[in-house]
Amino acid sequence: MLQGCETLVNIDSGTGYVEGLSKIEAILVARLKALGAEVKLVASEEPAVGNIIVGTLQGKGTRNVMLMVHYDTVFATGEAAKRPFKMVGNKAFGPGVADAKPGLLFILNSLEMMKERGFDRYKTITIVFNADEEKSSLGSRTAIKKLAADQDLVLSYEPPEQEQVIIATNGIAYVHLDVKGLSSHAGSAPEKGRNAAMEMANQILQLKDLGDPAKGTTVNWTVLQSGDRVNIIPDKASAKADMRLSELSELERVQQDANRIIGKKLIPETEVAVRVEDRRPPFSKNANTDALALSAKAIYQDLGKTLEPVAMRFGTDAGFAYNPANPKPTVLEGMGIVGDKLHNPDEWADLDSIVPRLYLSVKLLEKSLSEE
Ligand SMILES: [Zn+2]
Repeated sequence: MLQGCETLVNIDSGTGYVEGLSKIEAILVARLKALGAEVKLVASEEPAVGNIIVGTLQGKGTRNVMLMVHYDTVFATGEAAKRPFKMVGNKAFGPGVADAKPGLLFILNSLEMMKERGFDRYKTITIVFNADEEKSSLGSRTAIKKLAADQDLVLSYEPPEQEQVIIATNGIAYVHLDVKGLSSHAGSAPEKGRNAAMEMANQILQLKDLGDPAKGTTVNWTVLQSGDRVNIIPDKASAKADMRLSELSELERVQQDANRIIGKKLIPETEVAVRVEDRRPPFSKNANTDALALSAKAIYQDLGKTLEPVAMRFGTDAGFAYNPANPKPTVLEGMGIVGDKLHNPDEWADLDSIVPRLYLSVKLLEKSLSEE
């Protein structure tokens, strides 16, 4: 496990870096084939590059399970040479050392252990490694949704911060605000202009409470743009807000509220438009996931350890696997190594979590697949 981790961390695989991604791909494909999996490479949709690696194992049981995690990182090419894999005490460091290179190995090692144990009580196991998670999975989201739709169970191996499993993740959306006015010289004829920047300011104040804390929705205006010359009344202004949601219906609710609110203008002859853009759907809290998390907790108890089911504020690919309109598949996130400071140069992974979490992975799979 540690050797595999060192090898993977020391190969740069930032999203978009084809050369590095294909080196990792070669290693993963070889391991999947050694397990007896049938392997298909699906090109990521544009603008993403690299392949979605899809492995399939056939068993003798009745249930379908999918194991997934990404093999790209947020780091630039050259980062691995600058700070290669290293271990200090019970911590490991290096680019992707938690997010999410050990997750790839957890999946492969779990399957190897299950094979050694002669466990074949599954109909199929589908393994999905994607190459663009760190850029919103634009090139793999369709494939993930499609593959997940046929499953009873989906486990995702992103790293939790502590001894946890993740039972819900936030969705991400952008809110775009666009204002059209009329330009005019700010010195000689300001009254002939319709100031788009002023109207934008008005709208942002009016739109500051689009969030709903009770539903876990936040909307924060973060990017404002207007005007580039001090003596011209600007005819255009735009703003963007970061929106996080835990219920999919909030996309529609925020759009409708915003549409109503923008009708009230400060400068009547401006045009105002608002648009909510869905970036990543939420993996919402649900009863099936809660039950699976309890089962994970019980497995940890066998080891005399505690495991906490938690909801997370950031978004992951679990949102594409989860379907709020369908009880299947049951999704659980955070099956990876324990680690923190993700996306930072001081990202670390907890080496003491490897053994219990591999045990959890194998046991949870065997237990859930054995149920009828
Ligand atoms: Zn990740």
